[in-house]
Amino acid sequence: MSHVAVVRAFRYFETHADTITEEQIRICSIPASPFGEQERAEYLRQKFIELGLSEVEIDEEGNCLGLLRGASLKPLLVVSAHLDTVFSKDADFTVSKREHKLYAPGIADDGCGLAALLALAHVIQNEQIALEGSLLFVGTVGEEGEGNLRGVRHLFTNGRWASEVDAFLSFDGPGVDRITNRALGSRRYRVEFIGPGGHSWGDFGVPNPVHAMGRAISRLAGYPAPKDPRTTFNVGRIEGGTGVNSIPSRAAMEVDLRSSAEPELQRLDAFFRRAMRDAADEENGTRRAGDPPLQLKLELIGERPTGETPADSPLVELALEATRVLGVEPRLDQSSTDSNLPISLGIPAITLGAGGASGSSHTLDEWYDPRDREKGLKRALLVVLGAAGLRK
Ligand SMILES: [Zn+2]
Repeated sequence: MSHVAVVRAFRYFETHADTITEEQIRICSIPASPFGEQERAEYLRQKFIELGLSEVEIDEEGNCLGLLRGASLKPLLVVSAHLDTVFSKDADFTVSKREHKLYAPGIADDGCGLAALLALAHVIQNEQIALEGSLLFVGTVGEEGEGNLRGVRHLFTNGRWASEVDAFLSFDGPGVDRITNRALGSRRYRVEFIGPGGHSWGDFGVPNPVHAMGRAISRLAGYPAPKDPRTTFNVGRIEGGTGVNSIPSRAAMEVDLRSSAEPELQRLDAFFRRAMRDAADEENGTRRAGDPPLQLKLELIGERPTGETPADSPLVELALEATRVLGVEPRLDQSSTDSNLPISLGIPAITLGAGGASGSSHTLDEWYDPRDREKGLKRALLVVLGAAGLRK
């Protein structure tokens, strides 16, 4: 805290809040839907080059990488935020400002994380903060939903730095007290019921995919999900049918299953699979003699591992201390973030809030309030310097 470089960096965060917010507005104005992050990644690549990072590239998966080299390559700490949002390409990514708040899809999740990456790289370069180890700055693709952690997965499996990374840090969303050290596991499915279809009057008795799906949802909705360990399920999207007087030939839905404990997730998963089969059987049981049965298709579209970076590990203790030293009581948390992947590989990983406040996340009304953001950035810097090592 008393190191001259840290003092200067803190002052930068306090005096350049508007510069950091303007950068966040530029980033978030560039659309970045799932599997459509290229333009935002390219912008980040240009910024990494301007900041003087080395080995700057967009990798095969679409992640944007840049190395800030310390005295040694090791320890190598990944400092990341995710490029993607949950919004489709045709969403309006224009950022508007009312009072103190910024409004745009993804403005906080993960616009404030991306802004933090650039602010950290800027301050370390411009204040000539000398590091022992090195930092690999990464804007990841595919953190949200169907992206299924594809960016961070590539980074740790086929990426050129895969075997070099010693610790992983992700900035995701706002706040200054949250330290996510436990990975919340999830399974996601696309469910399809497929039948012959027909006329609502003339072909009555043909098995109906929408009726089958109704039976399936009803069964799932009755699942007695425990509060502790917290376990949840959600039918997030349904589709199917062509018109009111047609028996549909197809119905589909997407389902999200989560639990903070792996055995509970497995129990819910088993119940869900059985419920889908039973619903199809039940609908088929009512069909006219001679009609073909419904087909059920279950496709696993997402799987995120559970696990944790222990609360007494050096990385978590560092984050706890960095939070307390700023006068904030830290809160250990469980969530589903890019850190799930390194945690599942036994690599120390945490996800931190990047300061400021937000609301209406994952909706078109998402907002971010940058006031007090510097506290989050100060904490971020202390964790980064603590993990990489500061040269005296
Ligand atoms: Zn996020």
